[in-house]
Amino acid sequence: MNFLRGRSITFMNARVVGPDGALARSLRIDGSRIAALDELEAAGQVVDLENAFVFPGLINPHDHLELNHFPRLKWRPHYESAREWIADFQPRFTADPVVAAGLSHRLSDRLLIGGLKNLLSGVTTVCHHNPMYRELGRRFPVRIVERFGFSHSLHIDGPKVRDSFLRTRSAHPWIIHAAEGVDEEATGEVGRLLRLGCLGSNTLLVHGVGLTPADREHVLSRGAGLIWCPGSNRFLFGRTADVSEFARRGRLAIGTDSRLSGERDLLRELKVAREMATLEQRALVRAVTCDAATLLRLPTLGRLQARSPADILVLRSHLECPFEALVAADRSDVALTMVGGQPRVGEPTMAAAFDAVGIRTVRACLDGRPRILDSRIATRLARSGLQEPGFTLDGSKPLMVSLSNDEHTALRSSTRSARTDREETG
Ligand SMILES: [Zn+2]
Repeated sequence: MNFLRGRSITFMNARVVGPDGALARSLRIDGSRIAALDELEAAGQVVDLENAFVFPGLINPHDHLELNHFPRLKWRPHYESAREWIADFQPRFTADPVVAAGLSHRLSDRLLIGGLKNLLSGVTTVCHHNPMYRELGRRFPVRIVERFGFSHSLHIDGPKVRDSFLRTRSAHPWIIHAAEGVDEEATGEVGRLLRLGCLGSNTLLVHGVGLTPADREHVLSRGAGLIWCPGSNRFLFGRTADVSEFARRGRLAIGTDSRLSGERDLLRELKVAREMATLEQRALVRAVTCDAATLLRLPTLGRLQARSPADILVLRSHLECPFEALVAADRSDVALTMVGGQPRVGEPTMAAAFDAVGIRTVRACLDGRPRILDSRIATRLARSGLQEPGFTLDGSKPLMVSLSNDEHTALRSSTRSARTDREETG
């Protein structure tokens, strides 16, 4: 047990950002929680942020964490629906060397890359749209949303969708890929969900590319929301959803999906979002912070406020507007990612924050910039058979893992179990 865990850290000379802009110049953390904003007296370890922005840790409302070590894959210029894309995978699980090699790695290693992808881009909470594998427990690099129900989609789960919705408590979100495409089946999915009684105030549709104006009104009038993954939509379909009304009503969250179809990370998705929709930068930031938290029913996350978990993103930028700065940012601009008061990865200038809570670090390099990383994450990464592109541990050598046929088969079936409904965990 770390006896220093209860120590305080005060970030000074900070530009702390709220949903409407500048919030404070300092922020103090006690243990795992935010203690105070804008105090006159610093307490505990003082870290001078030299005018960096402090945002709430970003919330990624949609990912499949075990699929982020793959490259983007498709076999046609554009698809009409996700069903077509998924069908293109079926013969390739064993026949395509890229797909087969990707599936040959240990699940724990694959999930770790998914965690690292998010952590490096300042994401501190991920909603993982697949079973709650035991590897996603307390030692995982980012916070994982636990209290929600989900179904894959109507085209994969069929009648089981309704059971999944009914099993999910109304206080928890229920999430489903829907209208992921532009063919007749995809564009009819909101109508089917309505007829099945699955469009409630806790329903979150992922994608919504094929939503009609009437569908959008049905979804919004029921208080449901949209999780938008613009990079994936552009890659697969060459178009995306009309999200402006969802954003205006605070019912939009932006997610990455996995790297099989999505951008490298959530910061890259923000750039695609800016290109594909005429939304204010502030609305884009809300969709990865406070509005994402509201849709996922996470009232203590997505805003920097006293007593909330200390999930923090420190961002270097020369820009004045915090929203413009975040939307323009690359992961190499993220100076620190902290989850529940625990610094995980950051610039070497943040070493005092790691020291304050007794976290040992190792040196690393991210896209040519020096970084320090929690040594426990580094150890697991070094032992894994996978590497995160652009990220190296000092002195590390790539290690390859070769698995037996049995393990290979088990991993393939674990991917197929993506269709399984998650039982309520809360
Ligand atoms: Zn997905």
